Amino acid sequence: MNKKPPNLFEMAQAQLDEVASILNLEPSVHAILREPMREFHVSIPVKMDDGQTKVFKGFRVQHNNARGPYKGGIRFHPEETIDVVKALAAWMTWKCAVVDIPLGGGKGGVICNPKEMSSAELERLSRGYIDAIWEFIGPDRDIPAPDVYTNPQIMGWMMDEYSKRKGYCAPGVITGKPLNIGGSLGRGDATARGGVHTIIEAAKHLDIDLSAATVAIQGYGNAGSNAAILMHDLTKSKIVAVSDSKGGIYNRQGLDPHKVLQHKAETGSVINVRQGENISNSELLELKVDILCPAGLETVLTEENAPRIKAKIVAELANGPTTPEADEVLYHNGVFGIPDFLCNAGGVTVSYFEWVQSLNRYYWDENEVHQRLSKHMTKAFQDVLSEHLKRKVNMRSAAYIIAVTRVAEAMKLRGWV
Ligand code: GLU
Repeated sequence: MNKKPPNLFEMAQAQLDEVASILNLEPSVHAILREPMREFHVSIPVKMDDGQTKVFKGFRVQHNNARGPYKGGIRFHPEETIDVVKALAAWMTWKCAVVDIPLGGGKGGVICNPKEMSSAELERLSRGYIDAIWEFIGPDRDIPAPDVYTNPQIMGWMMDEYSKRKGYCAPGVITGKPLNIGGSLGRGDATARGGVHTIIEAAKHLDIDLSAATVAIQGYGNAGSNAAILMHDLTKSKIVAVSDSKGGIYNRQGLDPHKVLQHKAETGSVINVRQGENISNSELLELKVDILCPAGLETVLTEENAPRIKAKIVAELANGPTTPEADEVLYHNGVFGIPDFLCNAGGVTVSYFEWVQSLNRYYWDENEVHQRLSKHMTKAFQDVLSEHLKRKVNMRSAAYIIAVTRVAEAMKLRGWV
């Protein structure tokens, strides 16, 4: 019998509770961090192409802004819930803190199926969402960005809508914009590139030769496909399996991720690619590989399949792919986990660079972005690794210890507690 899927927000709270007890966190600090500071529920009427008006439900959650304005993406997903958005907003607080950028945590979501909407309908929905929340966001208040099923074009429409409300161009309100209207070089593959920096550091620590390593990647969206390409081109690792929501493909000799991406662009999925045999998503997770990279949606590693995970490193490019029960099993079995809010922090790190550039109206070259990203990610990984070694806790708890300590100290310094 299938167990009820875990409530993501309760999962995020359970992770925090564990660290609160390790740190002996003051009850008032713990209580503030357990809940978002504000959440907005909005209804967005959108004229559809057939002339009917449909009302969509949207959320924006602002978890904590002790270290700077709220920051975090907007997801367009048919199964979006407020609890998912609350969990993701809290993880943004920890993510920004662990890479030490001066931003807090937020997240947005709209319940919709973008795959079934025309571009004009998506534009009206994106503008409608901003009309509903514009007073609560802003370059010094809350800065959204892309996430699951949203992209630079959508950020462009949203920036435009906000700018119209304000009466001037405000590129600092949102990140992940198209380059020509204030985006940053290097933002497109930043999540994957940041993750690869953490994998390089983990491999050094574990003495794994990446040029001889095998990799399986679950999810072939922005993060997954770019991770496959970077690990193939830069670290020369062998990408033996990749998947998307329709299923996966496998080739023991290695896949060419560029060709897989082209196949996905032509057919809508990675499956049936000529170079590989089809496998299921669950088979992919249990392959005997050096590096497993969950890069799709939440809670794919559970107590049910965790005992069968054979990877040496689990690099969490997705947000929340591992349940707390699975965490324990993996740690016990000696699997080295790079926790989500560290592994996928490259996206928001380059978003931070984009925000700085947009506010200053002065843009950096790609090399500068890459170098600064590498510096932030490597430092963050090393901070977490030394906490992990010092306290003998798993990497997720180590990352939490650093992030929670920084946010708690900011709240104290500001006099909140
Ligand atoms: N949506 C991405 C994340 O979960 C990026 C957020 C941002 O750039 O603000 O980290």
